[in-house]
Amino acid sequence: MSLTAGLPGQLPGQMMDQPLLVSALLAHAERYHADTEIVSRTIEDGSLHRYTYADAARRARRLAKALARLGVRPGERVATLAWNGYRHFELYYAISGSGAVLHTVNPRLFPEQIAWIINDAEDGVVFFDLTFAPLIEKLAPQCPAVRHWVAMSDRAHRPSAAIPRLGCYEDLLAAEDDDYAWPQFDERAASALCYTSGTTGNPKGVLYSHRSVLLHCYASCLPDVFGFSARDCILPVVPMFHVNAWTIPYSAPMVGAKLVLPGAALDGPSLCELFEAEGVTFTGGVPTVWQGILQHLQKTGGKPTTLKRGVMGGSAAPPALMETFARDYGVQIDHAWGMTELSPLGVYNREKRKHGGLDDEARRALAAKQGRPPFGVEMKIVDAQGRTLPNDGEAVGELLVRGHWVVGQYFNVGAPTLRDGWFPTGDVGSIDADGYLWITDRAKDVIKSGGEWIGSIELENLACAHPAVAQAAVIGVAHPKWDERPLLVIVPKTGQRPSREELLAWYEGKIAKWWTPDDVVFVEQLPLTATGKISKLQLREQFRDHRLPGAAGG
Ligand code: ADP
Repeated sequence: MSLTAGLPGQLPGQMMDQPLLVSALLAHAERYHADTEIVSRTIEDGSLHRYTYADAARRARRLAKALARLGVRPGERVATLAWNGYRHFELYYAISGSGAVLHTVNPRLFPEQIAWIINDAEDGVVFFDLTFAPLIEKLAPQCPAVRHWVAMSDRAHRPSAAIPRLGCYEDLLAAEDDDYAWPQFDERAASALCYTSGTTGNPKGVLYSHRSVLLHCYASCLPDVFGFSARDCILPVVPMFHVNAWTIPYSAPMVGAKLVLPGAALDGPSLCELFEAEGVTFTGGVPTVWQGILQHLQKTGGKPTTLKRGVMGGSAAPPALMETFARDYGVQIDHAWGMTELSPLGVYNREKRKHGGLDDEARRALAAKQGRPPFGVEMKIVDAQGRTLPNDGEAVGELLVRGHWVVGQYFNVGAPTLRDGWFPTGDVGSIDADGYLWITDRAKDVIKSGGEWIGSIELENLACAHPAVAQAAVIGVAHPKWDERPLLVIVPKTGQRPSREELLAWYEGKIAKWWTPDDVVFVEQLPLTATGKISKLQLREQFRDHRLPGAAGG
């Protein structure tokens, strides 16, 4: 965190000292990509709203003035509970650009958790989409410090719910003009706050700076990462309340790409409709979102005509899913790993020049890995004693990272977050000599069998490659002899009913025999977390008493 002091005798550089500020991104897009569109599916009636970067910039300036009129001070936290849409986009810039802190709250969390987060962040104003009016009605009495609750709508759609100190977004804007200059300040100032979902314990806040966001944004646009350009049309399915939608609301204006914001409709049919209608070239989401897109395409026999690339992250990307998109639809999906604490980019999977000659199998094995770090992220793996393990693609240990956009300390948490200057991620994996990371598990999901570890991700990936399997999860279940043994939980493809024996036989020759799950259960759907990932916590709860065959007395 500390600034490095100069060495004796050094000369100061003589270049302009312009701070890296979030507002500069929108100012850039307004100047040089004025007529590039932002298209949003509205919450009011699902119709499409369409305007340009120039329009968005003008409205963001009016909103910055409205925030000042509401008494928002620099450094104060202003929350949003909102889908991906143009008003949310404007809030991203008006709040951070005026020197306050954008606090994106995940509306899918439990109401008690949301109230806890709003109070912990000490949000002065909360903006919300109409969908969440009933939720806000419940939250308001628990959050007395919130001075204003603002519905993100026009007057005609203002909610009738009993919400105290209720304002209306379009009324606030109507009262202002756009004669406003974005203030200049230290780039190390906080720009945004995002809480981790807190699957165990209370959620923890990560406070991004303008500098960390801008550097992350530059890195994410590199050709070996998202590779965005002014010829792209980007649809972030990943919500703007989840790690700033992987910073796409910042990187799209940075490069002048068209932006398509899908609102609340994140199902396969609605997304595919937008892909075609708007000419989307790139999209990104967690595996369950891609699964929904695939199911729709397979059902309708449709084929995306403009979508060529995408990213899958947030949890391990099943190779079979990526391969199907590449083979059947010509869509190249890259695997990426990150977390809220990394803004979120940690690694991204693109091949190197030397991989040009790889055969299909080696290429598949490489693509299954999470990827390698762009400049700006360093990683290492350590053993239980904290000793650094070799980057040989074999040794497996806890993953530690550091870099320009990695958390230094959690918000409002006194205890140190770092270990010797490194952030412990809680993920477990290996790193090969080329820097490719292979996550075997989250530390808390690892299956501990007879003192050895079984990584659930590889077992899930293999199961997903079975032709009758739509989704798979592997969890550890108590076993009297081995402590834990793997249980395979399967959602079969529609109309398919593979047998337990057939699925277990599928693993033969593909993994060490003792890794083979002890049992298989079939379910209609898997429980999801607030960020749309398969919830291992809930699954473990659900199958806590599952009796494994042969586990006498277990
Ligand atoms: P949340 O825990 O709220 O879902 P994060 O997005 O911060 O929020 O979750 C980060 C975690 O998600 C990582 O620590 C890792 O365990 C998991 N993860 C993210 N991307 C991948 C990936 N490509 N492969 C495996 N695990 C992943």
